[in-house]
Amino acid sequence: MIDQLLLQKGLRITNFRKQVLDIFLKQDKSLAVSEIEQDLREFDRITLYRTIKTFIDKGLIHEIVMPGDIKKLALCSHSCDDHDGHHHEHVHFQCKHCNDVLCVDIANFPQLDVPGFQIDSIEIQLVGVCANCKSI
Ligand SMILES: [Zn+2]
Ligand SMILES: [Zn+2]
Ligand SMILES: [Zn+2]
Repeated sequence: MIDQLLLQKGLRITNFRKQVLDIFLKQDKSLAVSEIEQDLREFDRITLYRTIKTFIDKGLIHEIVMPGDIKKLALCSHSCDDHDGHHHEHVHFQCKHCNDVLCVDIANFPQLDVPGFQIDSIEIQLVGVCANCKSI
């Protein structure tokens, strides 16, 4: 499964790439770089940063920047690749209780039209209480 995902995005399989990707696959939320570092037993920071950059370029993961300069990384859907870039039709939800940032699919992702401007992507950021925290 991990091998397939790397190959699908045109990436050579290396142990390190598999390790990093596995960390994302085990989570259903976005991750900060520091959280990825915590999960890796042994790593070289430069290699990790390069791997993250490659994953972003190839459409495997995307970067999320939320208010308060919170930077997270999350897995992409299959529609992202290195030709057409990232195409996301989901919103980013930040929980003010647990601070998790989640990629959430919504029905009818809005299409906006701004005369005279070309829109490449739409970012929707929501802040509130996540389903997990709400049920406590
Ligand atoms: Zn993407
Ligand atoms: Zn929460
Ligand atoms: Zn996302």
